[in-house]
Amino acid sequence: MSELRAHGLTVRYGDLVALRDVDLTVAPGSLLAVTGPSGAGKSTLLWALAGAVAVASGRVVLGDHEVTGREHAAALGIGLMPQGNGLAYSLTAAENILAPLLAAGVAPTDARDRCLAALGLVGVEESGNHLVDELSGGQQQRVALARALAARPAVLLADEPTSDLDAANRDRALALLRAEAARGAVIVMATHDPEAAAQADAELSLDEGEATLSR
Ligand code: ADP
Repeated sequence: MSELRAHGLTVRYGDLVALRDVDLTVAPGSLLAVTGPSGAGKSTLLWALAGAVAVASGRVVLGDHEVTGREHAAALGIGLMPQGNGLAYSLTAAENILAPLLAAGVAPTDARDRCLAALGLVGVEESGNHLVDELSGGQQQRVALARALAARPAVLLADEPTSDLDAANRDRALALLRAEAARGAVIVMATHDPEAAAQADAELSLDEGEATLSR
């Protein structure tokens, strides 16, 4: 597994500077929390690290590879769990997990095993055959986490992954992210929740696009 680095990342939306000259380094095996008020640039940072937004300047590097766009990032194993879960509502929970695994070339039996295991990890195994539309917000968020984990990413960029969870499920989700880091992954988690941020190895605070490593 490889270190994730950003050098001088600046993102503009028209006249608005959403990220201003942000540097960061996250070692394999560690969990970085990205905090800051609404509108501070947290989602923009995750999208930029995922190669999913055009940067005005700066670069993102995973190991020896400069990330050149979303498809390249995905090929390098950079996974994005977007805010609002990003699930297809007209598919079942299991289909949402299986489809990207099959598209990535995972053998069907292996994909099925990984899907079931991931649903079990987040505690929604009984909901695998339910349409996402039929699930609660918290269940949907757990399915989105299961999908992200099933992909076994080198880097997981999780945008507010615990925002819809009760305390017990939040702690379970954080334990799973920690376990994913222990496997050697880089985890970057945007969060509003101080208790979630406190479980990270380091915290990057954003304010109007400017970053400070606060611990
Ligand atoms: P956070 O995740 O911390 O709430 P965002 O990264 O979503 O912050 O937004 C940072 C700033 O960029 C905000 O001022 C927001 O309104 C603006 N912004 C986000 N996405 C867009 C977009 N697609 N077009 C224009 N402005 C945007």
